[in-house]
Amino acid sequence: MSRAKFSRVIIKLSGAALAGEQDYGIDPQFINSIAKEIKNVLTTGVEIAIVVGGGNIFRGIAGSAKGMDRGTADYMGMLATVINSLALQDALEKLGVDTRVQTAIEMRQVAEPYIRRRAMRHLEKGRIVIFAAGTGNPFFSTDTTAALRAAEINADAILMAKNVDGVYDSDPVKNPNAIKYKELEYIDVLNKGLGVMDSTAVSLCMDNNIPLIVFGVKEMNNIKRAILGEEVGTFVR
Ligand code: UDP
Repeated sequence: MSRAKFSRVIIKLSGAALAGEQDYGIDPQFINSIAKEIKNVLTTGVEIAIVVGGGNIFRGIAGSAKGMDRGTADYMGMLATVINSLALQDALEKLGVDTRVQTAIEMRQVAEPYIRRRAMRHLEKGRIVIFAAGTGNPFFSTDTTAALRAAEINADAILMAKNVDGVYDSDPVKNPNAIKYKELEYIDVLNKGLGVMDSTAVSLCMDNNIPLIVFGVKEMNNIKRAILGEEVGTFVR
């Protein structure tokens, strides 16, 4: 068993990451490959909780831009994260990984409700806990959910698997000369307005001293490398 640098982490998977090469929905091949990678990471002995986004299906802000009530649209976004969470649970369980989905919006037929102490007990038993339905509140994001759950379950770090391979000084898709940061402080993320996470999530991480590692999800083994303490993407503290 290789030695993990962290004993408990939250992995944040954006909805866009689950879409793979598609613009919308879930790419089954990609979700299977990420499940394999996560299973492999368990061999390091680290405890893993996962927060899944929903942007590949629905984003509240997009609904409200088209005239929907923002609260209603956000609840739709939260339900999208439940769909993604079930898909990820299915992929993990097919590989024999014990997984529990806990949802912040109660739906007993589908998943356990979020109960902090029960989530921690699952983790101690080596199960992966997937936190679905965000915080359960509109006007928040799944990045904030990752920060909140990390603080609640005493996670040592948040591992943010994105389509972009780190934090840049400007959008690398629009600016080919954008420079990637190796390390950053949260206060600089806020001051420079860098698009790592929304400011609520950044503040929560900063106030609770939770480090964040941002890296590309498409390069295999990045999650394991981050957990083993190797340099990947951008480290924010
Ligand atoms: N959402 C919310 N409250 C939360 C978390 C998420 O209202 O605590 C809604 C919000 O509408 C958001 C959507 O769920 O747009 C999907 O989450 P997010 O945009 O964070 O997903 P990602 O960008 O990671 O795919």
